[in-house]
Amino acid sequence: MSFEIVDRDLMARIGRFETKSGVVETPLLLPVINPNIQTVLPKTLEEKFGCRALITNAYIIQKNFKEAAAEKGLHDFLNFNGSIMTDSGAYQLLIYKGVETSPEEIVHFQETIDTDIATILDIPTGWGVPKEYARHTVNETIKRAKALKKMKTRDDIAWVGPVQGGQHLDLVAKSAKEMAKLPFQIHALGSPTPVMEQYKFDTLVDMIVTAKMNLPASRPFHLFGAGHPFMFALAVALGCDLFDSAAYALFAREDRYLTESGTTKLSELEYFPCSCPVCNKTDPENVRSLPKEDRQKMLAEHNLHVSFCELRRIKQAITEGRLWEHLEMRAHGHPSLLQAVKKLGKYSEYLEKQSSVTKRSGIFFFSSLGLARPEVIRYRKRLLDRYSPPPKAKILLLLPQTRTKPFHNSKEHETVMKEIQQILGDTVDLVHVCTYAAPFGVIPTELDDVYPLSQNEIASPFDAETVMYVAKQAANHIENTNYDRVILLRDPKVWMGKIAAACRRACKKKQVPFTTLRKRDPWAKNTIEHLVAVIREAVMSP
Ligand SMILES: [Zn+2]
Repeated sequence: MSFEIVDRDLMARIGRFETKSGVVETPLLLPVINPNIQTVLPKTLEEKFGCRALITNAYIIQKNFKEAAAEKGLHDFLNFNGSIMTDSGAYQLLIYKGVETSPEEIVHFQETIDTDIATILDIPTGWGVPKEYARHTVNETIKRAKALKKMKTRDDIAWVGPVQGGQHLDLVAKSAKEMAKLPFQIHALGSPTPVMEQYKFDTLVDMIVTAKMNLPASRPFHLFGAGHPFMFALAVALGCDLFDSAAYALFAREDRYLTESGTTKLSELEYFPCSCPVCNKTDPENVRSLPKEDRQKMLAEHNLHVSFCELRRIKQAITEGRLWEHLEMRAHGHPSLLQAVKKLGKYSEYLEKQSSVTKRSGIFFFSSLGLARPEVIRYRKRLLDRYSPPPKAKILLLLPQTRTKPFHNSKEHETVMKEIQQILGDTVDLVHVCTYAAPFGVIPTELDDVYPLSQNEIASPFDAETVMYVAKQAANHIENTNYDRVILLRDPKVWMGKIAAACRRACKKKQVPFTTLRKRDPWAKNTIEHLVAVIREAVMSP
């Protein structure tokens, strides 16, 4: 059993996890096989979908097929060669209360049926429970996790240590810290299903990040019950490596059709917005006319195709370093997902620490949501911690961003630089040119071709949060450096006076003279002439 991380983006990882039945690639979707109702057979999953792993419920098997499963072993019993994960009945415990098994019995049963990945019988916290009860579920789950060492007899099975605590984040943190100390191969977030059913994805963000912050990054992380493809991007971006989906079958049973951005009723579809093998062959009207069982099977197969397809898209986005863009696109599938992505702002510094430094592609900024991106946070931190202006620089000249990047190659900046060079000659080094630009803030000219400062595209006009962010960065830059004077070339149509106001306040605080030009067009000939005159005066005056 080993877990090797081969690629990463945001908190997402592409990894290889080895079980005794083979190697699987993460992020991995494990379709749920209910031994009572097999909507899609495990053999079909293997042959038609190339599925290398599934999850089933050891408790249901123990209750209904104990002898057969024990005698044949789980792989023969289900007729599946890939890796099999078993859940312990904790979910049944949450829904139906009392479960007719014991922690010890279910550990032994999972070993007997030769599962690959096994789960202890944890106590799910559930949703909206009093804190005292939540604390009890955490403590009891930890107690059972510690007892596993004495119960288990095999070392070739990967054991899952579930984290409980529900929406009580202090308890989630405590639970994760204790689980982290124990020799589990996988961790899982317990009982998020009610949270997901109520679309409380922003709460889910809190729960996942809190758990992940307190668990070893070297172990895969499973999100129980996250089976809808429209939230895979969010969960993967937060570092979830494994998912189980019962949704493909449950939704099919209710004549519901999954898409990567939501759910549609079969009765409302005129066309199938999909070209999977199922949808290619037929149309909604035809499927509606089928007997229930056939209809269910077709919908379940489509639901699986769309789920696996979304996961492949996510993996491709990880390898391209474009998971954020993908996540933002998915966030607009539902307001509660957008709310969850907005919540990432709260964890942007943590996200930055987890995210890889090298990226292969340019970045797209659509809105102020992108201000939480690791690249933006990283630039802000590095400018503050590692940057000092050139030693001779006395005057900070702030120029607006141009369409051309790097900015110093733009016709506009080149014209300004030529004029300044002409009048200042050898003393040109006294003037330090920086660009203020969305979304990064102040960019010193000598850095403006460093990735990703030139390798990005942003939609204009900028939204109010983005404008305020850049204004704040301009003020921060002035406050964190020691120029003798600041000169700002305004672009009021773009920045609506916000940059000037922020710079003025920062200069006042630092007691540094501040000059700005009240012109509408920053690049007009007379504006530049005026600017050059201001600079000359500033250099001449002691
Ligand atoms: Zn389809």
